[in-house]
Amino acid sequence: MALIGIGLIGSSLALAARRHGLASEIVAVARQQATLDEARSLNLADTYTSEAAEAVRGADLVILCTPVGAFEAVANAIAPHLEPGAILTDVGSVKGHVHRVVGPLVPEGVHFIPGHPMAGTEHSGPSAGFAELFENRWCILTPTDGQDRKAVDRLIGFWKAMGSKVDLMGHAHHDLVVAITSHVPHLVAYNIVGTADDLATVSKSEVIKFSAGGFRDFTRIAASDPVMWRDVFLTNRDAVLEMLGRFLEDLAMLQRHVRNGDGPALEALFTRTRAIRRSIIDAGQETAAPDFGRPHGGEGPAEPPSR
Ligand code: NAP
Repeated sequence: MALIGIGLIGSSLALAARRHGLASEIVAVARQQATLDEARSLNLADTYTSEAAEAVRGADLVILCTPVGAFEAVANAIAPHLEPGAILTDVGSVKGHVHRVVGPLVPEGVHFIPGHPMAGTEHSGPSAGFAELFENRWCILTPTDGQDRKAVDRLIGFWKAMGSKVDLMGHAHHDLVVAITSHVPHLVAYNIVGTADDLATVSKSEVIKFSAGGFRDFTRIAASDPVMWRDVFLTNRDAVLEMLGRFLEDLAMLQRHVRNGDGPALEALFTRTRAIRRSIIDAGQETAAPDFGRPHGGEGPAEPPSR
């Protein structure tokens, strides 16, 4: 298994694949020597190299785990060296772009099956990974029409063996789904934290001191990796703009309800949204513990890994 990029997701894949005996040999790729040294000190792989082309020689499974913006250059470098019959996949948060820029470079005989594990944290780098990251989380695969079913089943088996639930969908639909469930929420978080930081009338120390009033939960999302998220918004532009348009219309309506003092309209929406949180908890995708399970005064469960 060749992991091109050994940050949060790459290192978690290495640890989970090892734990579940899914790869006889793991090769880790990064650009910087410091990243490779960190990965080596954590014993994440068997071999470490900055040469992606070298890493994919003889690999049955190649997984692109760099920020999405690097995929095209990486695919150009590795394409001539991929083994016939190998599976080439990725973990990028955007799928249409990956089909567009990587797809045409994939040689005949290599199974190209893009994927996206819906699991992560706001941390990055090799030491951020943990073997349980994918457990009980969805992984979406977006194979092209006519892709070899056996290869798709092998990749489904790989994710399931790490504890993931797997769904297949078209890449355009994937990009719309994640635009509203992940990308626009990140944009909102980046914006609200930026706005609070810019405020002149409320001091920065007050924002930090009184952050438990909702702001703190936005800061976790807004602490996500700047390069990864830059690439998400550069490569999923159309779907994000579509969902952002809907979001802004609804926000303008909420603004009107607030201005008009329309209590029933506000209460009706808040009742509907509370039920949505309930269904996410019931689906096992969130903890029901108060305040996301944060310990208070030494009581309560430890904070679960954030997603
Ligand atoms: P990360 O922790 O920042 O790690 C990125 C890795 O890619 C580093 O090892 C980096 O090595 C390497 N890299 C960057 N550019 C490279 C290049 N041109 N060639 C070779 N290696 C390169 O990122 P991450 O959070 O694991 O995210 C990786 C991918 O997973 C992204 O595509 C993201 O969209 C997707 N994803 C992330 C999450 C999440 O919550 N974080 C969730 C699901 C999917 P250097 O240090 O040497 O540059």
